[in-house]
Amino acid sequence: MYQYKDIEQLHSDLKSHSVSCVNLVQQYIQKIKEKQHLNIYLEIFEQSALEQAQKVDEDISKGIIKPLSGLVVSIKDNLCYKNHACNAASKILEGFISTYTATAVQRLIDNGAIIIGRTNCDEFAMGSSNENSAFGPVKNPLNEEYVPGGSSGGAAASLSAHLCMAALGSDTGGSVRQPASFCGVIGLKPTYGRISRWGLIAYASSFDQIGTFTYTIKDAAKILSVIAGADEFDATCAEIPVPDYLSEITNFQNKKFKIAYFPETIDVDGLNPVVKTSIQKIIEQLNQNGHSVEPVNFNYLKYLIPTYYVLTTAEASSNLARYDGVRYGYRYKDAKDVEEMYKKTRSIGFGTEVKRRILLGTFVLSVGYYDAYYTKAQKVRHLIYKAIKEVFQKYDAILMPTTPSAAFKIGEKTDDPLKLYLEDIYTVLANIVGIPAISIPAGVDENQLPFGIQILTDSFSEGKLFAVSKIISDLK
Ligand code: GLN
Repeated sequence: MYQYKDIEQLHSDLKSHSVSCVNLVQQYIQKIKEKQHLNIYLEIFEQSALEQAQKVDEDISKGIIKPLSGLVVSIKDNLCYKNHACNAASKILEGFISTYTATAVQRLIDNGAIIIGRTNCDEFAMGSSNENSAFGPVKNPLNEEYVPGGSSGGAAASLSAHLCMAALGSDTGGSVRQPASFCGVIGLKPTYGRISRWGLIAYASSFDQIGTFTYTIKDAAKILSVIAGADEFDATCAEIPVPDYLSEITNFQNKKFKIAYFPETIDVDGLNPVVKTSIQKIIEQLNQNGHSVEPVNFNYLKYLIPTYYVLTTAEASSNLARYDGVRYGYRYKDAKDVEEMYKKTRSIGFGTEVKRRILLGTFVLSVGYYDAYYTKAQKVRHLIYKAIKEVFQKYDAILMPTTPSAAFKIGEKTDDPLKLYLEDIYTVLANIVGIPAISIPAGVDENQLPFGIQILTDSFSEGKLFAVSKIISDLK
């Protein structure tokens, strides 16, 4: 079995004809089937994947190789792919077949990638453990008693179990970076507006962003160069030109960076001491290597989770209003009138966590409470934005843990939603502000489970983000 860990190796083998793409895809399909008990894939796209592989083989025989030729990619179950099912891991989208393809997925295909299947996730991307899927939890391939993280748990696990070479997920408050941390891979959430959200099922539209899972920083850079950039179907997608991120890494390679960290993210009780020690060591090594890593005060840490949950639930309550049994997916059949049909469809179709968030969001938007919660949270969002922008006046990047600890056991936190919400403490900042952030593997805990370190840079500075990440990952 081939286990490709980067595009460079794959391309060198494809060019020398030591492997055929069809053969490669067949092997991945076989392996996915063998690992079915992990519940990572909701569906393998056998036929279309093999057809794409055939095309890549034909291209290669003619000497044509595209930037992502032969790259076997999984997509999260909230990304639309024409003529393929997409459920957002929800019963309410039962039987839904996409009528169009997400721009990011289309750009992957246009550049030679192969879409191998759709991965399990938390229902409508709401969760941190993949236990909120209507199709059951995903097991962490590194230890099957543990969660893979969420909401893109299947995506992270698909890479960690070598069931693809890269994966697409979405990140509204950490859903790419947190599972990447728990599964020992690299998870990138680009700047808000860097990648088109067309075809991504909306959770909280002013926070949502498509992100990637890869084994290497270089592959994250290569994939981003291909999928980023303006899109006529998404007005929030930036017109800013997309650089060649790979050459940006080279351009920055001899630069000495000024990096900030917030002591309150490290000197806290909830942080696993192993994670703490690892960050402190990275800070020390960076300083020894001529970079300057300095403590900076950040007074908003305790406001991050409330701001995130007030605003995202408000947006979710609006976005999820469209699932009413009339337009898509599941419909309750035995209702006596339309009102009962709506109510029963939504009561049965949505899972507990999604309903909790719709209710919370409806509450914070209701007439009597709008100003007290929604307006206030918007103001706090702006204050946090200003504070972070000030940091970037002086510093190139911010360093912090991705997660307070490594993966926890399946079932360990299911009875207390608040406990799970607190898991998001380090990841929601990037989405509140809209800046890019990445999680790269930083070590393992006492159970030998991995955890990541997170790097954040200013908006549209992904080149710098990759460069700093490369320096940190080369430390070990
Ligand atoms: N864990 C966070 C939540 O439950 C983030 C989800 C996400 O990024 N989609 O909302």
